[in-house]
Amino acid sequence: CGIVGYIGHREAYPIIIKGLKRLEYRGYDSAGIVLYNDDEFKLSKTKGKVSDLEEKASKEIDNKGTMGMGHTRWATHGVPNDVNSHPHYSNSGELVIIHNGIIENYEPLKIELINRGYTFKSDTDTEVLVNLIEEIQKSKNLKLGKAVQVALNQVVGAYAICVMDLKKPNEIVAARLGSPLAIGLGENEFFIASDASPFIEYTNNAIYLEDEEMAIIRLNKPVKIRKIKDDQLVSPYIQELQL
Ligand code: GLU
Repeated sequence: CGIVGYIGHREAYPIIIKGLKRLEYRGYDSAGIVLYNDDEFKLSKTKGKVSDLEEKASKEIDNKGTMGMGHTRWATHGVPNDVNSHPHYSNSGELVIIHNGIIENYEPLKIELINRGYTFKSDTDTEVLVNLIEEIQKSKNLKLGKAVQVALNQVVGAYAICVMDLKKPNEIVAARLGSPLAIGLGENEFFIASDASPFIEYTNNAIYLEDEEMAIIRLNKPVKIRKIKDDQLVSPYIQELQL
């Protein structure tokens, strides 16, 4: 299973597809991608290989855009099929998430969200998390990063996640607990991936998120890293990767 994200000035699609292929060694059963272009999200996902995704995406979506994220899934909750593949939208369609890992307490959270009027398309634990973030964002009137943080404090499990918000183009919020996540720092561009292999030819500067850390990654701004639990700001340690 794997994660690749990009915000910058290049076309995101080829970077993400190539990156997902480099993460194939981690194993997976489905693949998906979401791009931001023309003020909309363009999403394509499928059971099967990254090459199946390329074929489907080329027919289904406009592959343009300089921000996006891709996912390879190793199913834990819900069988491998197109609907359960990631990315997953929130109910409003404004938030979109990719997730590696498990949300162990998704059942009580899901019941609570259903009681508040949320509906679910998939059988995944991940769709519960994206709707929890949305519910927190709307009910408490929080920015994306804060809403993700509050939601993750209610979650038991393991995760590497990336979340995008239609209202916040040029921003990706990433977080990790138990699943790896690296942020590649280029010039006016950022890469996010399960390991450095998807971005090694673009930059050798990377931040590896530690467990229980989250990052707010915005175009033309320094990456902001916080502890998920106590909100403490962390000064990022930038590693120089050996090429
Ligand atoms: N638990 C999530 C699911 O089953 C993510 C699995 C993964 O790590 O890819 O959809």
